Amino acid sequence: MAIQSHEAEAKNLKVIFIPFSATSHIIPLVEMARLFAMHGVDSTIVTTAGNAGIFQKSIDHDFNRGRPIKTHVLEFPAKQVNLSVVTETFNTDTPLTEAAKFQEGFVMLQSLIENYLLGELEVDCIVSDLCHPWTVEVASKLGIPRIVFSPASIFSRCAELLFEKHRAHNEVESDYDKFTIVGFPHKFEMSRSQLPDWMKKPSMYGMIIKALNDSARRSYGAIFNSFSDFEGAYEEHYKNAFGTKCWGIGPVSLWANQDVSDKEERGEAKVEEGNSDLLKWLHSKKENSVIYVSFGSLNKFPPSQLIEIAHALEASSHNFIWVVRKNINEKEGDEGFMEEFEKRMKENNKGYLIWGWAPQMLILENKAIGGIVTHCGWSTIMESIKVGLPMVSWPLFADQFFNEKIIIDVLRIGVSVGAKEWRNWNEFGSEVVKREEIEKAIALVMENGKESEEMRSRSKALSEDAKKAILVGGSSHANLMQLIHELKSLKHQRLNGVLLGQ
Ligand code: UDP
Repeated sequence: MAIQSHEAEAKNLKVIFIPFSATSHIIPLVEMARLFAMHGVDSTIVTTAGNAGIFQKSIDHDFNRGRPIKTHVLEFPAKQVNLSVVTETFNTDTPLTEAAKFQEGFVMLQSLIENYLLGELEVDCIVSDLCHPWTVEVASKLGIPRIVFSPASIFSRCAELLFEKHRAHNEVESDYDKFTIVGFPHKFEMSRSQLPDWMKKPSMYGMIIKALNDSARRSYGAIFNSFSDFEGAYEEHYKNAFGTKCWGIGPVSLWANQDVSDKEERGEAKVEEGNSDLLKWLHSKKENSVIYVSFGSLNKFPPSQLIEIAHALEASSHNFIWVVRKNINEKEGDEGFMEEFEKRMKENNKGYLIWGWAPQMLILENKAIGGIVTHCGWSTIMESIKVGLPMVSWPLFADQFFNEKIIIDVLRIGVSVGAKEWRNWNEFGSEVVKREEIEKAIALVMENGKESEEMRSRSKALSEDAKKAILVGGSSHANLMQLIHELKSLKHQRLNGVLLGQ
């Protein structure tokens, strides 16, 4: 083919996106796929029918808007692995007893995806969740770049690597002694109890993380739901630590979901049930008077913790929206406590409980919301920053204790509830945060004191930076354009017979 026609061909970039089967991994990667399609890239998301249900409406909308995007649906091998549950997604409802079968199903799914990719003659790039390390081999077989996506902060990805190397946490005596993290642009203190188990002792999970990190190092680059004014220093750190390129292209939710319908239908929303009661309730509240309380898509508290939160919210002088997920595996119930609590809150119009999935984007951007109590899930942090909300940080698992450091120590836009124990996402552990601590932190964030005013104004300034980042001339916009341009040149080189060394 003549060089000129290779140039024309390279303009038609085809990228395949492979999300991991967990709601909070799927949402931001699909939003990234939608951003690529928004900028003319032929984008295909490969997943199972059950997972596609989480986002398909947004893809249909984008397709009808004339964007080149589609989902390629594969059948999850539930029958072959004898899985009795109907879900294909890791979330709060995934029964732990079925975990091994899920795992088996995922391994079988891997070969289905691989066959699809190897059969797709025209794919130019794979954007893969970090949890699919094998995609680096497939990309290499195809001679195309693999870009790795992690739904975490850039900071936490760098911190994991730094801890592996320096092991400063081994130099303190007790699990609760503080040690300083060295080697970063900012100074942080943590305790061993706040670190993931796999960092503290050798485990199977630690070996998996090592494999994921190795595959990240062998990738062409990494993309994050972040932006330079926020995590620019860590973008540079990542490049050195992992030896690959790194692009922050966030906040992706703000960029991809510009219509109300996008926000309403996001994630596991049951659109047919509507949000009119919730919105009516919010509209009846004064500006900045409501605190939003949510612990993401993976957490379920037992009654002992729910009761402490309920007492704190009732005692607080502020209104609240609380997204509640009760631990259905709990043998002992709360003896009707939560139902009574909800009834009281409804009667005195103080609080609104959402059992299950909340339309978080719609809620956060409502003027009545003045702050958030968050488990420091990365997407939630990005969504709160985007609307300039100060935060009460309450990390639980995964990268959340690292994310808290950015909120509290670097940006100073939040107050910590004082959680000390890292735990697995599906276990509760022994720590119960007391009502007094929760109430105190909420008051500090929501009241009109000097500290709160300063936090709020720093949050608002960061929100302005986030909005600018996605506009023409902004850092995330420039990063996405540069990445697309680079992928086109790589395609052009490949068509001219230049091999890619990843
Ligand atoms: N989310 C939502 N409604 C819910 C729970 C979660 O819209 O009731 C969305 C939230 O907006 C975010 C994602 O799900 O985009 C949760 O991701 P995050 O990283 O904050 O936490 P995780 O679920 O991984 O703990």
